[in-house]
Amino acid sequence: PVRDRPRRISIFGATGSIGTSTVAVLADRPGEFEVEAVTAFGNAGNLARVAKEVGAKVAVIADRNSFETLKEALEGTGIEAAAGDKGIEEAASRPVDVVVAGIVGAAGLSPTLAAIRAGSNIALANKECLVCAGELFVAEARQAGVRILPMDSEHNAIFQALGDNRMEDVDKIILTASGGPFREWTKQAMAAAEPAEALKHPNWSMGPKITIDSATLMNKGLELIEAHHLFDVGNDRLDVLVHPQSIIHGIVAFKDGTMIATMSAPDMRMPIGHCLSWPKRGGDVGLGLDLAKVAKLTFTKPDVDRFPALRVAREALEAGGWATNALNAANEIAVAAYLAGNIGFLEIARLVEDTIADVAAAGFDRTPETIKDALALDKEGRRIATGLIARHTARQPS
Ligand code: NAD
Ligand code: MG
Repeated sequence: PVRDRPRRISIFGATGSIGTSTVAVLADRPGEFEVEAVTAFGNAGNLARVAKEVGAKVAVIADRNSFETLKEALEGTGIEAAAGDKGIEEAASRPVDVVVAGIVGAAGLSPTLAAIRAGSNIALANKECLVCAGELFVAEARQAGVRILPMDSEHNAIFQALGDNRMEDVDKIILTASGGPFREWTKQAMAAAEPAEALKHPNWSMGPKITIDSATLMNKGLELIEAHHLFDVGNDRLDVLVHPQSIIHGIVAFKDGTMIATMSAPDMRMPIGHCLSWPKRGGDVGLGLDLAKVAKLTFTKPDVDRFPALRVAREALEAGGWATNALNAANEIAVAAYLAGNIGFLEIARLVEDTIADVAAAGFDRTPETIKDALALDKEGRRIATGLIARHTARQPS
């Protein structure tokens, strides 16, 4: 058989959870991929190790203070070292077959946009791009003629279930949620939940930000917004089901009554491998699932009273791109404040809701049309959320 040329890829956020799983996929499939760039925020030693492991051409560290350490660690390897946000954008501008967008948060906006403009397909884990500026990303991708391949497990499952079907035949798109560590907790217990408890996800091992998002179900809220942009469906055709086994990741319900669901073990190597091979499927990597061992799959409706983030996200989706941008900014600030011990668990969703209201009251309720607008609005949302936390903390009895 004729061997395909290796796929050229770049990995943004190469030292994180998505990045590490991506490197594991490459290790499972030797010779299939060539790596142009790997990037990370601040751990130069880790980044250098990953760069050597995958044989990258260039390694870029966002934190300029770590540049010398990176350069030293790469000495004699022939791997180029670079630093700073500019360095990351330059690496994103190098065209490849697929860019893995695995940076966490709004920090991924500029590099992902640069990659789109360079004509690379995007394997999108960084859902915050779509929550902050989905209209813009979808339009830019269309204009550049590139695909946004959903790497988030639910969206990847739906992408696979949709196949060649027409969206007009689709009744509903259903995202499953594990329910997180607090699925069965009372509201009272959740109010006192410690970060260490929220960081214990039952089924997935992921970075800290998305793990907290999974505990509040804000992650599912972000994913509703993500699905809206990826599949061009409105809030009314998007559903969430709590499915604690995390075996079915997404379901497409067709108007004719048929439902197509995608199943796999909860392991990010599956959606990552799918995006990297698309439109083909990857080879045998031994990730098959023993359904007899799983035995039982259950589904329930999410409890919006205990998990208000879902309602807040749906309202933001209805309100428009400015509101989802504010939602993301406030959520990033709120999660950081919760992890720092400055606010309680239930305050996260409340803070997000209040920030969106204040962003509107301040007259910023216009959907961003450029990346500059999106970043300016993001900054405003962060400023307002930070102010709300400062006032909240000042009110606390000492
Ligand atoms: P993580 O915290 O484990 O890793 C984040 C990566 O981004 C690291 O390499 C870090 O160095 C880099 N980074 C952080 N801030 C940066 C900045 N300012 N500039 C440049 N680089 C920066 O996060 P993760 O869990 O891998 O998640 C990454 C993204 O993928 C998130 O958007 C998350 O929602 C999404 N996602 C993750 C998973 C998962 O299984 N971890 C699943 C679905 C979607
Ligand atoms: Mg997901």
